[in-house]
Amino acid sequence: MAKQKKYIFVTGGVLSSIGKGIAAASMGMLMEQRGIKVTMIKMDPYLNVDPGTMSPFQHGEVFVLDDGTETDLDLGHYSRFVQSAAFTRSNSFTTGRIYDAVIRRERAGGYLGKTVQVIPHITDEIKSNIRQASADADLAIIEVGGTVGDIESLPFLEAIRHMKFEEGAANVLYIHLTLVPYMAAAQELKTKPTQHSVKELREIGIQPDLLLCRSDRKLPKDVKDKIGLFCNVPGDHVFSAIDVKSIYEVPLYFSEENLDERIVEKLGIWTGRPDLSKWQAMVEKIKNPKGEVTIGIVGKYTDWRDTYKSLSEALIHGGVAGNVRVNMQYVDSEEIEKGNLDLLRSVDGILVPGGFGERGIEGKIRAVEYARTEGIPFFGICLGMQLAVVEYARNMCGMSGAGSAEFKPGGTENVVDIMESQKTVTDKGGTMRLGAYACAVLSKYNGKPTRAFAAYGKEQINERHRHRFEVSDVFRSRLEEKGLLVSGRHKRSDGTELVEMVEIPSHPWFLGCQFHPEFLSRPLVPHPLFASFVKAAKDSGKGQQRKLKGIG
Ligand code: GLN
Repeated sequence: MAKQKKYIFVTGGVLSSIGKGIAAASMGMLMEQRGIKVTMIKMDPYLNVDPGTMSPFQHGEVFVLDDGTETDLDLGHYSRFVQSAAFTRSNSFTTGRIYDAVIRRERAGGYLGKTVQVIPHITDEIKSNIRQASADADLAIIEVGGTVGDIESLPFLEAIRHMKFEEGAANVLYIHLTLVPYMAAAQELKTKPTQHSVKELREIGIQPDLLLCRSDRKLPKDVKDKIGLFCNVPGDHVFSAIDVKSIYEVPLYFSEENLDERIVEKLGIWTGRPDLSKWQAMVEKIKNPKGEVTIGIVGKYTDWRDTYKSLSEALIHGGVAGNVRVNMQYVDSEEIEKGNLDLLRSVDGILVPGGFGERGIEGKIRAVEYARTEGIPFFGICLGMQLAVVEYARNMCGMSGAGSAEFKPGGTENVVDIMESQKTVTDKGGTMRLGAYACAVLSKYNGKPTRAFAAYGKEQINERHRHRFEVSDVFRSRLEEKGLLVSGRHKRSDGTELVEMVEIPSHPWFLGCQFHPEFLSRPLVPHPLFASFVKAAKDSGKGQQRKLKGIG
């Protein structure tokens, strides 16, 4: 008999941003470490069909999957916590996608003249999406985006309510994450918001089985019992989700509170205890590093930290590999544009990340030049690599007008240009090179391993992309003649190739990549480029030297 599939639905109450994604991912990690085949699903209650065209300023980073799906940053958390699941387009869907499918089916006559309604047609579509995404797993953890009480998430909640009847009560678990604030004036943990949020959930017919209470301290037994009493669950089904320094500590705390034990018990899954030793060792390295490096991340001042979520995590992973703490110094490129290079003087490495739009571009180019001429380890990702190529063309190849077609459409020295095949496409969603592409790594140059090969240790890799522009073939040989080495390339079926990585062999560590390596970095498997960059920054100790000389 096939194994009975199990479902965990994770909802959130009281406030947004209390860590539902991390909590869901942490449970996924604990279940996976118990040997269960886990998948994770995110349901987002907004009308955009996918988050690809949403401003990262509003919604945080756009995370890209191998199949080219643009999802929100929670899929990034899932990928970093749950090692073996392969996430695809099915693992993330929005209200927009559900309605889009239902309306298309209605237009095609798929409902045979019936009145098409939220219940059952939208809810059926939601359930069928959940089941399809769970097909290969024994346990699916499904996160409902938004906060209970929002109008938008009602169809999702209605659909997950049905699941308990359809799949059997023993196979479905509802876990609700709420906030338990500590009121300093009263010196008390306040349970009322949790009570109200659970009341709201019960009004729509969902009785949570377990409660996770986000709080700045552990909940004492009497507070858990009180919450249990008001929320109709036993006190030992209430768990503390306390604030921690590193997000990677969250599953360890959950496990200490026996959350994973309770989950398998409630779902009737027989497993041994999870082996958390590798995870513990990794957290230990984050908490007690042997040294530190400072990386200057040069971006637009309008960007905020969540825009670079995977990037900052990948740097932390690079720190784990090198046993150092990575301090991230966000540097506003417009300040550099004004000539304020002091902001970069105390850093050990400079990173120009991906981005879109013209703002701050010249400052970023100035930062590349500074890193190149001062011998400071430099890592350019996507836009960062494109600007490194522009800088090289301008300052090493005498092309003073060098630029990118993104900012200079029709320019005569665009070393970065739009691909010929894309020039006539007008649909905004359809013009990007998205998802995983193969890249051939050049192993040696002048008898020595390239930086790329030294990092990866192999000649064939796959990395994820999200961009419109490419290094132009027209000027490539001129750049190469002047010493810019193309160390990674994608060979296309028509025989042409695209530049995937560039480096400067005479520089201590200068590498640009057209793809986004941060999407593949994992805390237990740091990405080789990040590990290698952080190590170079540590070895160079440039920032440290300047600080000591009092130049910083
Ligand atoms: N804006 C550039 C492009 O579209 C770079 C994109 C990116 O950095 N993700 O090609």
